[in-house]
Amino acid sequence: MAELARDLHCEAVQIFSRSPRGGKPREFTESEIMRMRQILDESDIRPLVVHVPYLVNLAHDGGKTRDYAREVLTLDLKRSDALGCAFCVVHSGHHEDEERGLANVASLLREVLEEYTPKCRLLLENTAGQGGEVGRRFSSLAAVISVLREEGFGDCLGICLDVCHAFAAGYDVRLPETWAAIGEELRGVTEEGLVYLLHLNDSQHPLGSRRDRHAHVGEGYIGVDGFGTILAVAPKSWFCVGEDIAGILETPIEIPGDYLKDMGILREIRGAG
Ligand SMILES: [Zn+2]
Repeated sequence: MAELARDLHCEAVQIFSRSPRGGKPREFTESEIMRMRQILDESDIRPLVVHVPYLVNLAHDGGKTRDYAREVLTLDLKRSDALGCAFCVVHSGHHEDEERGLANVASLLREVLEEYTPKCRLLLENTAGQGGEVGRRFSSLAAVISVLREEGFGDCLGICLDVCHAFAAGYDVRLPETWAAIGEELRGVTEEGLVYLLHLNDSQHPLGSRRDRHAHVGEGYIGVDGFGTILAVAPKSWFCVGEDIAGILETPIEIPGDYLKDMGILREIRGAG
C-alpha cells in the first residue's frame, strides 16, 4: 500500500486494516509497520486513515450484532494506533428508528472509549440514508459527539464528510449556500469544528436519491463544477478543521492507476482555484 501510494503520488491514504468483509485479521509485524511508516513519512503522505469494515452496525439494539460491532471497532482502533494512523473512519450503521439508532451509537461508542482510549481520532462518517442507515444529517452526528464530549470523550471523536453521501442525502454540495446551511445546522449543536476529513466521491445517483453509489470525479451528478465549489468552499468552512484538510477518493477501481485520473482532475481544480 505505501509503495503504491508513493508511486501514484498520493498526498493522503485510506486503507482497510483487514478484509472489509470480516473474518479474523492478520497481525502486523514490527518490521512491516516500520517499512510502511518510513515510506509514508519520506513521501510526506499524511494523514493515514483506516476505514472500519462496512459490516459493523453501531446502531443495533443489542445481542451478537452489537457485541461484534464493539469488538471490531475496538480492535480497529488498536490496529490504527499500531499503524500510527491519524484517523479511523466508521459508518454509524442502520436502524429502523433513526433516533433510537443514534442513541445506540452513542452508547456503543461510550463503551468502546471507556475500554480503550485511542491515540487516533475516530470519525463518524455521514451516510446517504440508504436502507435505514442512520446519521445522514450532520447535526445528528454532532449531537452524538456532543453527548460524549460532555462525558470527556470528545477529544477522540470527529466527523468525516463524504460529499457523495451528503449529496445523496439531499445536501446540494455543488452550491456554496449549502455549505453555509451545513454550518448553520451544525451551529445549532456546537461551535466547535468537527469535520477532520473529506471523502471526495462523485455520485452515480441524483440529489436526494438516498442511494450510495460512488462515481469518478466529474462523471457523476456532482460534476467538475460541483467539485470546484467543494474545493473552494469546504476547507474554508468554520466546521472543517484546518484549510489543509485532506480529501480521500473512494471512487470505483478496476486497476490501482484509476485513481490517477480522479487525482488529476482534483489537482487541476485546486491549481486553478
Ligand atoms: Zn466515504
